[in-house]
Amino acid sequence: MAAEPRLYLRQVEVGPMQNFAYLVGDREKRECAIVDAAWNVEGLIEVAERDDMKITSALVTHFHPDHLGGTMMGHSITGAAELVGRLPVKVWMHKSEVPFANRVSGLSNSDIVPTEGGDEILVGDLSIRFLHTPGHTPGSQCFLVDGNLVSGDTLFIGACGRCDLPGSNAEDLWRSLNQTLKALPEETVLFPGHNYADRTTSTIGAESRTNPYLRLRLDQFLSMMGG
Ligand SMILES: [Zn+2]
Repeated sequence: MAAEPRLYLRQVEVGPMQNFAYLVGDREKRECAIVDAAWNVEGLIEVAERDDMKITSALVTHFHPDHLGGTMMGHSITGAAELVGRLPVKVWMHKSEVPFANRVSGLSNSDIVPTEGGDEILVGDLSIRFLHTPGHTPGSQCFLVDGNLVSGDTLFIGACGRCDLPGSNAEDLWRSLNQTLKALPEETVLFPGHNYADRTTSTIGAESRTNPYLRLRLDQFLSMMGG
C-alpha cells in the first residue's frame, strides 16, 4: 500500500449556501489549519478529531458571514467566534478585512492575526502562503500550499466572485484573477470557496483555458461586470 501523502487537505461542504470549508495540514505532525469555519463549526471540529488532526489555527479568505460567521440572509452563523471559544486558536485574516470582521463576526482584536500578501504560516512543518487577492472584498486572500490553491470567493470553477457588493472592486478583481492567480503554475489545483460547479476541484491551467473571467481584457471584464 502506498504511503499517505504528507499533505492533509480535506474539503467539506457546509451550510445552506454550498460553502466549502477546508482542513489543511501536516499529516506527520498531526496539525492542521481550518479555513473558513463559518457553518457547523462543531461538525468541522469532529471531522478533524476523527482524522486525529489537531486544529492549531483558523484562516479566513474574507469577512463575509458565510466564510467567517455573522448574520446573513436571515441566518445567524456562529463561525470563527464559536471556534475561538472552543479551541485556543487565532484567526488569520488580511489586515484590510479586520474593520469589517469587527462589525460582523463578534471577534475581538485579540482573536485576530492581521496578514499581508506574501506572509506564511507554518502548520506542523507545512508552509501555507497567503496571497492578497482583492476585488470581491478589499482583503480577500487565497492560500497556497504545496501546489494547491484555496481561493475563497475570488476564483470559482468557471466563474469568479461578485464585485457588485459594498467594498468590491472590479478592477482589483481582474488583476487578482488575471495577474496574481493566472501566474501560478498550470498544474496548481484549485479548491474554491463554494460548490457551484459540476465538480469540486479544477486547475489553474484548466481555468486559464476555459474560465471566461480569466480570458477577458480589463476593459471587457469591466463592461461585463457593469463597471
Ligand atoms: Zn463572499
